[in-house]
Amino acid sequence: LKIAVLKETKDDERRVAIVPSLLPKLAKLGIEVQVQSGAGLRARLPDDAYLQGPSPATLIDDPKALVADADIVLAIQAPGLDTVAAMKPGAVLVSFLYLNKVPGLPERLRDGKITAFAMEAVPRISRAQSLDALSSQAALSGYYAPLLGALHLPRIMPMMTTAVGSLRAAKVLVMGLGVAGLQALATARRLGAVTEGYDVRPETREQAQSVGAKFVDTGIDATGEGGYARELTVEEQAKAAEVLTQHIQQADVVITTANVPGRQAPRLVSRAQIEGMKPGAVIVDLAADSGGNCEGTVPGQTVEIGPTVVLAPFNVPSLLAQHASELYAKNLLNLLALIVQDGALALDLEDEVVLGTLVAYDGTVRDPDARSFPV
Ligand code: NAD
Repeated sequence: LKIAVLKETKDDERRVAIVPSLLPKLAKLGIEVQVQSGAGLRARLPDDAYLQGPSPATLIDDPKALVADADIVLAIQAPGLDTVAAMKPGAVLVSFLYLNKVPGLPERLRDGKITAFAMEAVPRISRAQSLDALSSQAALSGYYAPLLGALHLPRIMPMMTTAVGSLRAAKVLVMGLGVAGLQALATARRLGAVTEGYDVRPETREQAQSVGAKFVDTGIDATGEGGYARELTVEEQAKAAEVLTQHIQQADVVITTANVPGRQAPRLVSRAQIEGMKPGAVIVDLAADSGGNCEGTVPGQTVEIGPTVVLAPFNVPSLLAQHASELYAKNLLNLLALIVQDGALALDLEDEVVLGTLVAYDGTVRDPDARSFPV
């Protein structure tokens, strides 16, 4: 069974789908690995690293020749349509796909009879945790956000006693306590900040406290379907803002990570609240990829609003390309272990993890929002 590892083509994408340290594990599954030359370079994983060790890969320059020869194609982002068109009928594609955001891709998968697994569709259930790339990547984004905040803050994070007096610890408020938010709280605390967390799912209170943060209680319970948050009503939004304004204004760094599945990111911080922050305050808006959590956020850019610098970087995991690639590659390996047996493809369409992640199969494409397959 041959797998192809593509070099990513998007400007801000530095990750690579397979790291050299996993080659022996893939060999154990009976898989032969072919890597596009230069695939790991932007994650500082040189071609040579893929040629060493007991199970070296083969390097191939041309992406079309690479995929034409492969049974399984692995990538981080959806490959270009030409590359998909060069795949063998019945071959498997695994990457983040976001089918409804890539014009032409569903048709190309259908016409090419490609079997496609979308990493963003891995079910959020305990058994699938080791395949959950959204979580592995969100954890790294969450880690990175306080570092970005600290770098842009004209003050320090920890309390510091000097010969001429003491400097106070910074206050960091994290809004949205999913995988990224909890890591952000933990990192901010390790940097010496005093931390507070806010979410609309009540179970996050204990989770915030377990990483040393105070929970900001707005009295709202907006737990929705599947344990995710639902959208807040207008009344709930007003109630939350009333409690939160004071906390936002006392914070040195605010990190926002809130998402509601399938929707534009919720607006958590208003322009008036940003304008009322302390001079030199910093907001790191981690929801840039889904529109941002703050009024005035410009996704992909850093802007100043009143006294506050608002950062909204795209694709934060890619800034930590080596570790992000390592975790993503492990997620892929765990998916491959489910669909490959004795060196051959073995799809169990009764398996809820396989079925949940599968978005195209044998000439049919699943509506990304639909739960059943095929439709
Ligand atoms: P996410 O990225 O979808 O959202 C981030 C956070 O924003 C969530 O905690 C959400 O409650 C919060 N949020 C949404 N609207 C908000 C608002 N208006 N105000 C404040 N906060 C708001 O979340 P995620 O990190 O992908 O995880 C969401 C849930 O899924 C969590 O309960 C997490 O523990 C769970 N999860 C389970 C598994 C698993 O069992 N395999 C894996 C990953 C995540």
